[in-house]
Amino acid sequence: MSKKKLAVARMWYEGNSFSPSITDLGIFQAREWAEGAAAIELYRGTATEMGAVVAFAEAHPDWEVTFLRCAGAPPGGPVADDAFKVIEAEILSGLMRQNWDAVYLSLHGAMITVSNPTPDFDLLRGVREVIGRTPFAASFDLHANLCAEMIGQLDMATGYKTYPHIDKDVVATQALTCLAALAKGSIAPVSAVAKVPAIYTSFNMRTTDGPMAEVAALAAEWRAKPDVLEATVFGGFAYGDSPFAGPTALVITDDEPALAREAADALAAAMAARRAQFEIKPPAPAEAIAQALATPGSKPAAVTDPADNPLSGGIGDTPGLLRALLDAKPAVPTVFGFFWDPELVARARAAGVGATIRASFGGRVSDKFGAPVVADATVLALTDGRFRNVGPYDHHLEVDVGPTAMFDLAGIRVIVTSGCQTPNDPAYFDLHGIDLAEVGLLCVKAKNHFRAGFTDLTRCIVECDAPGPAGVSLAHYDFRYAPKELLGG
Ligand SMILES: [Zn+2]
Repeated sequence: MSKKKLAVARMWYEGNSFSPSITDLGIFQAREWAEGAAAIELYRGTATEMGAVVAFAEAHPDWEVTFLRCAGAPPGGPVADDAFKVIEAEILSGLMRQNWDAVYLSLHGAMITVSNPTPDFDLLRGVREVIGRTPFAASFDLHANLCAEMIGQLDMATGYKTYPHIDKDVVATQALTCLAALAKGSIAPVSAVAKVPAIYTSFNMRTTDGPMAEVAALAAEWRAKPDVLEATVFGGFAYGDSPFAGPTALVITDDEPALAREAADALAAAMAARRAQFEIKPPAPAEAIAQALATPGSKPAAVTDPADNPLSGGIGDTPGLLRALLDAKPAVPTVFGFFWDPELVARARAAGVGATIRASFGGRVSDKFGAPVVADATVLALTDGRFRNVGPYDHHLEVDVGPTAMFDLAGIRVIVTSGCQTPNDPAYFDLHGIDLAEVGLLCVKAKNHFRAGFTDLTRCIVECDAPGPAGVSLAHYDFRYAPKELLGG
């Protein structure tokens, strides 16, 4: 029996149009850059899309799976145009090498480049042009900015159903299972897409509670119906300025177009009806700190600063929450994670543990969101920045945040890293010798993904609204591509 041939590739990036940083090819190459056998080694056993592909390949000896270019980078500012072109060209030329029985692409769906607000769409079109009518599936992040024309390039599309995203492998498996069925000719997917006429931030978009949990439950009801292959509501990525901005309901049925349309329209309407619940206004940092400290309990209280969350395109650089902490002078052991500053880490390494140096925290990438905090700080710890996730988010994935330093700044332990990544896993703090059980207040540049690993470890998680590239008020940002009528609220 000759094996069927599946080609897989990945280009995963969430781009914040309002971040002052540019993501070049080197950032992809340093973070996630593999093909062939090396990709299998990189992803095996991880709760990720490509981890699911490895598991599929190993469970389906009748399929020969080829890993073409797999590239991913942490969310940030726009991708350099040439970096996108290189990744796109590698994927397309890989697909041109031979004929395939099926193609799977792992995308985020809210990539932007310096000059292109919709590169995911270009890649989908390019792939379809190369592979003709070959069955083609893709999976997307829950925060993808999608449109009917993008989905129209695909035979099958799936999206994360959880936020925090702990089902990346599940949705990839769903896509691969449908692809295998498609290749056999046993299903005939038809899709319907409905846009929600608004842009929501993801502050209140968790699927564990609140309005998105309700909409996700409705989507699950549709998925449980006969002939429904997929029903997902994508929240969209507010800071990815795109003509496809705003939430999207996607439903795919097995040859039941009217059912797909009915379900997509119903889900989009449910999302639109909850607008007021999505448009929340978190307290300022000082108030959030006070609220967190006043919450009773023995576990640490947490305050998150989503406006500078790297997973939303934050730059690990805004000083608002640290300033509020210095003013508040909490009487409990306090940890602040983090600032992105490779030079400061290098200075700390040169000075050594125990040394006190004059240091500047934040306001380095841009002073647009506040001036740096300048103070004497003592080096408490130095690390290589490497650990393996122990929490449910990207469980077991190896993480490298680059060399790090932890300082004592007026009694607050401040972590500074050479790379810009959200502290979303308890192992991040273990690495720095921090026992979370003895911490009273944990302040982090993070948003909802933080909750996956920390809800059980903290007594409360209070969000604040500080100036930053991913803040709650969209009126602060200068949109160029998003439909103007969506920006009214
Ligand atoms: Zn997301």
